[in-house]
Amino acid sequence: MEVLNLIIERNIKEKGGFNYHWGCDGLKISHVCFADDLMLFSQADECSVRILKESLEDFSGVSGLIPNLNKSTIYFGNVNNHLQHLIKGLLPFKVGVLPVRYLGIPLLSKRLYSKDCSVLIDKVRKKLNDWKNKFLSFDGRLQLIRHFNLYDIWCPLSPLCSFITVRDIHRPGLTTRSTVNEIVVNGGWSWPVEWQNKFPSLFNLNVPSLVDGKRDVLMWKSREEKHMPFCTSEVYKDLCVHRQSVQWAKVMWFSQSIPRHAFILWLAYQVRLLTQDRLDRWEVRSDLLCPFCQLQMDSHYHLFFECDYPSEVWDCLKGLGMLNDAPPNRKGCVDFLAKQHMGRSFRSIIQRLVLAAMFYFIWQERNLRLFQDKYRTVEELCKVIEKL
Ligand SMILES: [Zn+2]
Repeated sequence: MEVLNLIIERNIKEKGGFNYHWGCDGLKISHVCFADDLMLFSQADECSVRILKESLEDFSGVSGLIPNLNKSTIYFGNVNNHLQHLIKGLLPFKVGVLPVRYLGIPLLSKRLYSKDCSVLIDKVRKKLNDWKNKFLSFDGRLQLIRHFNLYDIWCPLSPLCSFITVRDIHRPGLTTRSTVNEIVVNGGWSWPVEWQNKFPSLFNLNVPSLVDGKRDVLMWKSREEKHMPFCTSEVYKDLCVHRQSVQWAKVMWFSQSIPRHAFILWLAYQVRLLTQDRLDRWEVRSDLLCPFCQLQMDSHYHLFFECDYPSEVWDCLKGLGMLNDAPPNRKGCVDFLAKQHMGRSFRSIIQRLVLAAMFYFIWQERNLRLFQDKYRTVEELCKVIEKL
């Protein structure tokens, strides 16, 4: 639509002679786009309509999008038959009759009143009501909680809307926007009398201590059932399952590690890379072969480092990484380093960096061959790693 905007504006400017519709002249509006809809406005004269027509044709030429004649309508306001006939010849749309409604609102040249917009207001209101029954984003819920305590979890029976109907709320003169504050008088409950038999449990609730002028605070109930003010970091800690860290974690996660290399090594060690043998569980196929040798099934075991290409990369770089004594296989090499002291020594850091880089670049090369048909020799790949 940005392109169409530019085309219309350019044509109006360059071709000259365009007359704006009288209601759009002040703001120089020739068209309005909304979602998939386009509205064009102009004075009913041949020159103006021709400019709009040529703009649509230019746009079709660029984008391949053509106006759907069945869905396009032209509206005339006080235009004589001769002129109407001429314009219909230029833009062969079907002729609509005014007044016309768009999204339920009448398109009027005079001022709109609230009753004119009632359809739209009802639609928005219905949408809002729907939100109550659905899971909302955290932001959305915050917005609602500020207004609707009936939907808020502020007591053990909450949300009250789960058992009090809108009819029951309105009968004693309350609304869905009523707040807890309105039900607490002089430190005691003042629930509607007719609710006594219907919702007796409400009368047994502890009365919250409300402080005038103090805003509501969002609270988080922790795993230990403790209430605390909502704070992202505290909630994150609460949600995290605390497990003992594994010995091999430091092989990939340390302050000097390169995150994308460490991530691939982390996935590979846990056999979580998306190798083709995983696909094979779902579908028996014969073409899921290793892109290096085209002989064996593409798998973690084969890739690190059974296959010739990765094995040569290992042989080429094991000296640089001081990994001569490490077993050349996916699990063995990581476990070998995990058993060593992984301090801040130069040797330990280099060992881990080179190991992770080998996993990363072999995985990258495998993907390039598989998906982009690009190839690097063992020497070229090793040079890339050595330059890091
Ligand atoms: Zn292979």
